[in-house]
Amino acid sequence: MPGSSSQPEAWILAIGNELLIGRIVDTNSAWLARRLTFLGFRVRRIIKVPDSLEDIVEEMRRGLGRARVIITTGGLGPTYDDKTLEAVAEALGRPLELNPKALKMVEEFYSKKNLPLTPEREKMARLPKGSKPLPNPAGAAPGVLVEHNGVMVVSLPGVPAEMEAIFDNYVVPELKKIAPPMALWECSTVIEGVPESGLAPVLEELARRNPSAYIKSHPKGHEVLGPILDVRVLASAPSEEEAKRLAESISEKIASEAERLGGKVTKRSCGHPD
Ligand code: ATP
Repeated sequence: MPGSSSQPEAWILAIGNELLIGRIVDTNSAWLARRLTFLGFRVRRIIKVPDSLEDIVEEMRRGLGRARVIITTGGLGPTYDDKTLEAVAEALGRPLELNPKALKMVEEFYSKKNLPLTPEREKMARLPKGSKPLPNPAGAAPGVLVEHNGVMVVSLPGVPAEMEAIFDNYVVPELKKIAPPMALWECSTVIEGVPESGLAPVLEELARRNPSAYIKSHPKGHEVLGPILDVRVLASAPSEEEAKRLAESISEKIASEAERLGGKVTKRSCGHPD
């Protein structure tokens, strides 16, 4: 994991029974984790939680004791099993109340489709007291942001297009206010002829000496019959120049150690991680 302990900690709670029965794959968390990492946060937990009030409250409480930011996805819709906001309210000890701005957003969404405001639709505008509704350019349920005792709690819908639009438009500017200055640089070194277990002590020592770099070997071939390793170094630093210098010096060291162990470096490339 890239970064140091000085980076603010982020947790992601992906909510929905469908995730736990394997009907849908939790792509939202991967998308969010990547974004949060690039913004300078250290993602420490990704948790899948069923649509159960008790379970969501339990994980929220755990996160509130550790994280600087908690992002939830899913469970914001109009149906009885959409319990996220009720659970966030309970975990924060705040009542749910009808938020006039959120109500306006929900009303406008349905009135454009000539649909009335029913109690189920109104439910999407009942937010934990003190929350800020975040406009949803792609759907009905607004996102929700609430600051509570130094923790930013953000709830986003489960539908990926809605979740992504709200995050990029309304959450990123808030996160940038609390993110440390941070740049990332990544190097890949492809090595043939050294088993992963042979290179492991070298990587372990480099990781120990460079806590702000994430070093990981990805085996591609057979461990002993034809080992091919792609060793990735993802370095983080306050400036791009420093991140670049760190990633490149570590990957050069990996290449020279691999050669010392009888391996051949067949490819090396560095750049912005995508
Ligand atoms: P809406 O407000 O639009 O009803 P919601 O917040 O209630 O959304 P869910 O009902 O939890 O969202 O999920 C809606 C759909 O979004 C799911 O059926 C699934 O297709 C997709 N989805 C939900 N969670 C995830 C996830 N973690 N990763 C990828 N897709 C997801």
